[in-house]
Amino acid sequence: MDCFCDGNTTSLKLEGDVGADPFWCMECGCNLELEDLPLSGELKAALAQWAEQYGNWIDWNKDQLLPDGVMREDHHNQEGRRLSAIIKGELKNRYDLQFIPSSMARMYASRSKPRK
Ligand SMILES: [Zn+2]
Repeated sequence: MDCFCDGNTTSLKLEGDVGADPFWCMECGCNLELEDLPLSGELKAALAQWAEQYGNWIDWNKDQLLPDGVMREDHHNQEGRRLSAIIKGELKNRYDLQFIPSSMARMYASRSKPRK
């Protein structure tokens, strides 16, 4: 794996981010290339699609949460959890994987509440 740990990391996390591949090294925090992971093509395609949908609960032009944004994020997190179980199966015991669910929609929701 191409990161600052000289390829010796065994600790990964799956976390969506805007415009980034969804895998990160737990040790150095490097964003990892999806292509470098020893996963099946089918799973990589599903992950690329999942990563692309990250943040589809936000209207980026207005920087606002969509009306059903919290539900969309929940759905994305469920899918991430499902995928991480499949990833663990494919990685066997070579890597530890931790899934970090997104809490962005909740952050937006609390921020946009009218204050009086
Ligand atoms: Zn690393």
